[in-house]
Amino acid sequence: MSVDCLFCKIVAGDIPARKLYEDDHVIAFHDIAPQAPVHFLVIPKKHIATLNDLTEDDKALTGHIVHTAQRLAKEQGCEEGFRVVMNCNELGGQTVYHIHMHVLGQRQLHWPPG
Ligand code: 5GP
Ligand code: ZN
Repeated sequence: MSVDCLFCKIVAGDIPARKLYEDDHVIAFHDIAPQAPVHFLVIPKKHIATLNDLTEDDKALTGHIVHTAQRLAKEQGCEEGFRVVMNCNELGGQTVYHIHMHVLGQRQLHWPPG
């Protein structure tokens, strides 16, 4: 837990979020500014600031994030196609420094993202 972290506050329940799923290790909730009809975030409950801060010990956790994203994408009707994104640091477009996997779906997505 990092006291100044927005997503740690969501994990703690101090800031409300529209939750899709929660277990001992991860939480998933709708993005506050959706960029697609389906846009939710899957985050670890443990505070990890950026992808650069992951360690070998986080391998099971990162696998769990991916599987949770895949399962919820299906539940949200996105099995035909969807995108997952993890932004790292300012150059990668990261604005909240607690790692999160974006899941976007139910519209045509293009590449490169710009
Ligand atoms: P990043 O730019 O770090 O990859 O993504 C951060 C995401 O968090 C953005 O898509 C932004 O809309 C979302 N976000 C920021 N503040 C909040 C909040 O208070 N609640 C929720 N649900 N999403 C947030
Ligand atoms: Zn945090």
